[in-house]
Order: sequence, then C-alpha cells, then structure tokens
Amino acid sequence: MPSLKTTIIRGGLEALYFSGANVLMRPFVSGVGAILTLHHVRPQRPDGFQPNRLLEVTPEFLERVLRFLRRQQLDIVSLDEVYRRLVEADFSRRFVCITIDDGYRDTLQYAYPILTKHGFTATLFVYTDYVGAGRNSLSWPELRELAAEGFDIQAHSKTHGDLRRTIGETDAQFARRMQAELEVPRGLFQRNLGAPPTTLAYPYGAADEDVVRAVRETGYAAAFTVRREGNPSFVTPLRAHRSQIYSEMSLQDFIKNLEVRHEERLGEAQ
Ligand SMILES: [Zn+2]
Repeated sequence: MPSLKTTIIRGGLEALYFSGANVLMRPFVSGVGAILTLHHVRPQRPDGFQPNRLLEVTPEFLERVLRFLRRQQLDIVSLDEVYRRLVEADFSRRFVCITIDDGYRDTLQYAYPILTKHGFTATLFVYTDYVGAGRNSLSWPELRELAAEGFDIQAHSKTHGDLRRTIGETDAQFARRMQAELEVPRGLFQRNLGAPPTTLAYPYGAADEDVVRAVRETGYAAAFTVRREGNPSFVTPLRAHRSQIYSEMSLQDFIKNLEVRHEERLGEAQ
C-alpha cells in the first residue's frame, strides 16, 4: 500500500464546508461541517486512457478516507440532516456528509459496498437524462434499491447543462429551459422513486440570481454551488457554497485542510 504522502487525490474528492454564520447571518458558534463529493469510484485502469481521471478516486482511496472519517469525532449525516442543522443553527457537533455526483454505475459497483461496510450511506445527485441511459449509468430500479438501503437520491438537473442564462436568451426561452431542467426531474423522481427531490446540485456548481429564483419557485429547499473562497454573509440554503479541491493533493494535506479550517472556525468564535 502506498504511503499516505504519496496518495494522490486527483480532484475527484471535493470538500464542502458550511459555516452557520454565513448561512444564518449570525456569529459562528462552534463546529463545522464538510460535504465530500465523489464522482467516479473505480480501480485505475491499465490502458492509460483516462480522460476523466480528475474526477476519479480508487476504491482503496475511498476506503482510507472512510477509515479516517470514522476515527474523527464527527457525525456522519444525511443531506436532510445537514439542511436541518443549517436552518436550525445546530452546530454543536461537526458533521460530514458524503455525496456522489452524476449517477455512474460504479457507484453501485465500488462505492456502495465500501460505504455500507463502514456503516455509511451517501446522497446521490443524478441528472435524469443519464439515468438508465447506458451500461455505465445507474437505472431507476437500481436507484430505488439504493434508496431502500438508506441512500438519498437527489437532483442534478435534467441534462447537466450549465443552468445560467446564456447571452441573448429571452425570458421565455430561459423559463422554458428552467422548466425542463428543474421540473422534469421532479416529475421523474415522483414517478420512479415516489417523491420529488428536495435538493439540487447545480451542474458545475454554476448558478446566477435568475437560476436561484427558478430553483426556489420550483420548490427545491436547498441547492449547492461550488465556490473556492469564503461565503458572503447573504448566503441562503439555495446557494450553499462548497469549496472544491481542484489540484492534486495528498490525503494528509486534505486532512490538514479539514483540521485547519476547523481551527479557523473555532478561532472566529472567540
Ligand atoms: Zn455533475
């Protein structure tokens, strides 16, 4: 097994940090939460052609991350629970939530057995055009199975296109596009999983004011953007920010990052 120092996170693992101060416009009290986002979890392939390498982690790596998380004084929580803690300002304990984006089949093949072995579940953000689209995508029956096992299935739009208004797009065109990207998944979730999604992960983390408004009007309770830097004080649950780790970094650096951020948050409270 390679040493931790040489273990590379190839950007497939994103850390998302929440501060109650940012969301609720009040001084931060204590604790901090992290949401880990994965895309592909699968063994490294020998052919060398791995165009999505930046979005991949190996099963062994996931195993090490989960073991690390288990050792920390952290609550491992669902996204619903993250949302509850945000709106109720319950930051008495640090939390971690694991999410897996897009709906790849390797989620079931590789991530699922490792997660359940450690007693974790995860939230899956799937875009509905991809569900059941081919042999590499999860199907609705598979998503139903995962849901029955306690996995949380949430929305990631219909097409995975950038939702932001394009140059020259009229109000009517934008409204039609939002209808498709936001409403269609709700209908499909209702039909296939028995309930509409409550949460949306913006494709590429990208949202503007018009998108946020459309998401709110469609009935999503929370949505996630991606932003590397700190949160301004007007952040709402519909624009909960997350900090992505883009560059290659070692697991130890990742851990340090978590801990340093935690110390910073605690420092702010003093
Ligand atoms: Zn995605």
